[in-house]
Amino acid sequence: MIRTRTLVVSPDAPDPDAIAEAADVIRRGGLVAFATETVYGLGADATRDSAVRRIFEAKGRESTNPLIVHLDSIESVRPVAAVWPHLAETLAERFWPGPLTLVLPKTPRIADIATAGGPTVGLRVPRPSVARDLIARSRVPIAAPSANRSTRISPTLARHVAKDLDGRIEMILDSGPTAVGIESTVLDLTSDPPIILRPGSITPDDLAPFLGMRPEIRGQSGLARSPGLATIHYAPRTIAYRGTLDDLDHRILPENTGVLLIGVPYPKLSRAFPHRIELLTSDFAEPAFYDALHRLDELNLAAIFVVAPPDAPCWTALRDRLIRATQPLPK
Ligand code: AMP
Ligand code: MG
Repeated sequence: MIRTRTLVVSPDAPDPDAIAEAADVIRRGGLVAFATETVYGLGADATRDSAVRRIFEAKGRESTNPLIVHLDSIESVRPVAAVWPHLAETLAERFWPGPLTLVLPKTPRIADIATAGGPTVGLRVPRPSVARDLIARSRVPIAAPSANRSTRISPTLARHVAKDLDGRIEMILDSGPTAVGIESTVLDLTSDPPIILRPGSITPDDLAPFLGMRPEIRGQSGLARSPGLATIHYAPRTIAYRGTLDDLDHRILPENTGVLLIGVPYPKLSRAFPHRIELLTSDFAEPAFYDALHRLDELNLAAIFVVAPPDAPCWTALRDRLIRATQPLPK
């Protein structure tokens, strides 16, 4: 057991002393959870094998799953990316700081374990000052996957981090809720044409003008096409199903079922569901999604039922996370 210290800091003007303490932990090879604009990240010195290994241990993450490396500015890309094509520069200038991860060939400066032994690294510059100040003060790139135990719900509040990682990491920088709320869009620039490995709030249409084409999403789970095939990830402890409003009204569900409605209002139903959360628009639902799952999970209900949003482009990223967090109702 490690004693986990939580320091409360302002997201936009974090106390330099707190940042210095956190940077000291990173420089000694320790673990600091901090907010990016997407979710809270679990950070370690990306150049040190032993430090990065601790991320995998604390999360219980499979060593075959690569981590995203966070930088404080476009300029700090030089020591870590073996090539930096013109397209990468263009995308970085437009979308960094921001929730876009670019996959590029790595240099030996990045610990091999951070990229699961592979030749490429996912890079991004996060927006919040707390994240960039921490990276700048640490003077190393910071590898940071989401600050949750592997396969559990991603954290958008410091409280979510503590639930999973208290006693396993040195420090949590609590700067309040994250603004975007779902993980970054991952764009692979080593494939031609570039492909999206994970959908996020930066959409194929946002990227199209820069790529000269609309990038394909590969590695997406596909709610309608292959229900049940997706690996469970980002999941609550309570058994969680997904389905339609019609399922909610007509299928047999346990007495004590919590309901999360995404993209559809709660209608008049033949039975009442007292524990329910409605997230109507995608702009509102993305930042609130993981917290809604955390809150329903904490109620110790018999089941969670999520009414899935419509199959429209604005819901692509959220539907991807929903598939990983829930299973289809059994036939
Ligand atoms: P997270 O779990 O939020 O740290 O996100 C890590 C995810 O980013 C991985 O599961 C991959 O989907 C993607 N990723 C990170 N680095 C790479 C890489 N070098 N090549 C391909 N995908 C990557
Ligand atoms: Mg994660």
